[in-house]
Amino acid sequence: MLTDTFGRRFYYLRLSITDVCNFRCQYCLPDGYQCDHDRQFLTLPEIRNVAQTFASLGTEKIRITGGEPSLRKDLPEVIKTCKQTPGIKQVAITTNGYKLPEMLPQWIDAGLDTLNVSIDSLDTKQFNLITGHDKLDTILKGIDIAVAHPNLKVKVNTVLMRNFNYQSLEQFLAWVKGMPISLRFIELMQTGDNTTFFDEQHVQGEEIKQYLLANGWSEQIREKTAGPAQEFYHPDYQGTIGLIMPYSKDFCATCNRLRVSSLGKLHLCLFAEHGHELRELLTEADSETVAAHITSLMSDKKVSHFLQDKLTGATKHLAMLGG
Ligand code: SAM
Ligand code: SF4
Repeated sequence: MLTDTFGRRFYYLRLSITDVCNFRCQYCLPDGYQCDHDRQFLTLPEIRNVAQTFASLGTEKIRITGGEPSLRKDLPEVIKTCKQTPGIKQVAITTNGYKLPEMLPQWIDAGLDTLNVSIDSLDTKQFNLITGHDKLDTILKGIDIAVAHPNLKVKVNTVLMRNFNYQSLEQFLAWVKGMPISLRFIELMQTGDNTTFFDEQHVQGEEIKQYLLANGWSEQIREKTAGPAQEFYHPDYQGTIGLIMPYSKDFCATCNRLRVSSLGKLHLCLFAEHGHELRELLTEADSETVAAHITSLMSDKKVSHFLQDKLTGATKHLAMLGG
């Protein structure tokens, strides 16, 4: 089992398979994806090696992310490769869902267990303003299809922004009343590129937590492979609410995840100063050798992301690594 010097155990891998994205979310890529040089993203055999290596080190869950992972044509094979790796119990994806109704059946056939779709507004105009795309109706159609599937867990990610969707909290809650999904409000994180936007738009997740607790919601206990969200449920609601509060005290104490970038670098933290090169080993070495190398790097994992000190490391935006 991968463990760091602070006794944290790592069951969960976030694997980015591309940094390209077609959306222009205001907090992430407001000017759209900028391609400054040629790169070759991890190939399927390299992804297989990553999955086998991490599984041999105790990883049970892989989240496929990006950029926008569904821009890769071989995404169903990527899902299948992860799912067929012995030891991997859960495969999840985080997507903007721009072609969800069309693509979802192939992902489910490939073995997808959990679908996370990012939806920052339920209002068409505001959705377009935030993402630069007119896709809300398509995405919501996709959510309906996903929810109807008996073996698929469905989650929606919403980044809270004070002057955009924060005023629509009630609308989001009303939506999950009859919708069996986990809606997760993510506190906006500062990155290298969004400093001014962050200062204007950041809302403390604690504000939402107090609101939920005052309105009949209760907190659930976390599973060991759980993501970073604190989950809340309400007896009158089919859906649940998750709060991801990276600025809260002790957020990093429960860190159980590591990241591999689409170019094959191990990132011990989303906001680390740099990634550790795995690519050469992934193409040339067996998974035992890669595993020994990863284990030797764990002592470099820091106690915290230091975001509260406004240190964002090498992370210019989260499309680089997948959030
Ligand atoms: N393109 C996919 C999507 O948007 O779902 C996957 C990649 S995206 C980087 C992963 C998640 O990170 C999304 O839910 C997105 O809203 C969130 N995210 C991106 N930038 C963020 C920021 N600065 N603060 C908080 N969450 C952010
Ligand atoms: Fe693209 Fe996701 Fe970033 Fe939005 S949050 S720009 S969909 S990578």
